[in-house]
Amino acid sequence: MHDIVDLRSDTLTLPTPEMREAMARAPVGDDVWEEDPTVKRLEALAAERLGKAAGLFVTSGTMGNLVSVVSQTQTGQEVVLDLDSHIFNYEVAGAAVVGNVQMRPVKTARGFLTPDQVREALRPANIHLPPTGLVCVENTHNRHGGTCCTPEEISAIAAVAHEASVPVHLDGARLFNAAVALKRPARDFARDVDSVTFCVSKGLGAPVGSVICGSTDLIARARRVRKMLGGGMRQAGIIAAAGIVALERMVDRLAEDHANARALAEGVSKLPGLSVDLASVQTNIVIFRVERGGTAAASAAATAELVAGSGARKVKIHAIGPTAIRCVTHKDIDAEDIGRTLDAFAEITRKW
Ligand SMILES: *Cc1c(COP(=O)(O)O)cnc(C)c1O
Repeated sequence: MHDIVDLRSDTLTLPTPEMREAMARAPVGDDVWEEDPTVKRLEALAAERLGKAAGLFVTSGTMGNLVSVVSQTQTGQEVVLDLDSHIFNYEVAGAAVVGNVQMRPVKTARGFLTPDQVREALRPANIHLPPTGLVCVENTHNRHGGTCCTPEEISAIAAVAHEASVPVHLDGARLFNAAVALKRPARDFARDVDSVTFCVSKGLGAPVGSVICGSTDLIARARRVRKMLGGGMRQAGIIAAAGIVALERMVDRLAEDHANARALAEGVSKLPGLSVDLASVQTNIVIFRVERGGTAAASAAATAELVAGSGARKVKIHAIGPTAIRCVTHKDIDAEDIGRTLDAFAEITRKW
């Protein structure tokens, strides 16, 4: 049990004592000179877990995606991705601003393009059209509530893209959540993509960083792009050390977060005025809607009341829309905390 139950995001996880210890002891060097042994260890470990030849430690998932896009596209090309994807919605248009590429967002049912949708989105050779430069996939899908697609679904998308000689990037910020939920090795999801990124800083609990994995040639290009963006870090082994602990010790326990999310969702589904699509709760994210009084304004007021009332009861939650709440479970939330959260929600919604 924790004094404050913070369900706003798994980015709020604090490093474990073991991570602090590893950070204090890590052998380090200048990583721009490729002389930091701890960064090299994390990159090799990440590449091994994802079945790729090489890895590159970057500051964030956002930088990982941007470096991956810039390393695999040319000015004026088009990037095909889901309309609700993180890259399209939450990365400050970096790919357009820095990468000089155009985004081609496609509306999908579950956050994942079908192979047919990829086929339709690929541009034929025509003087009027921007050439397709990259296809992106996101797993787990953030805005769709942490939903997973299977390795086979990713491979089917990649097959269509590769047939047209277009590379594929997997934004796997929470890829290990998908791997644990579907009981498949992480490398299966990455098998047919050209680049993959994942965060050590979210549910895996490290304080900073993401890793990009891909071929040796891609990672060499990515290393130059990272430097250009100001992401060449010096004695970065201090933070990479926590990433190693994250990969070695924190993956299997994600199953607890998933169980807690499920318990939270089931509890929420029984409360008046709250509704949740239980089928979408597959990993550590629970998105639910608030409805009260039959009007949008009343529902929005009730949403604000739920956020404020929970906060007053030391349960921090976050609205992602006027009547939508997203709760994320993580290592600093336990089963008792879920009970307290549901008690707080019940108290607030009782009078609705
Ligand atoms: C969080 C997230 C990112 C970005 O990671 P940061 O480390 O916060 O920059 C990218 N993609 C997805 C799907 C995410 O959930």
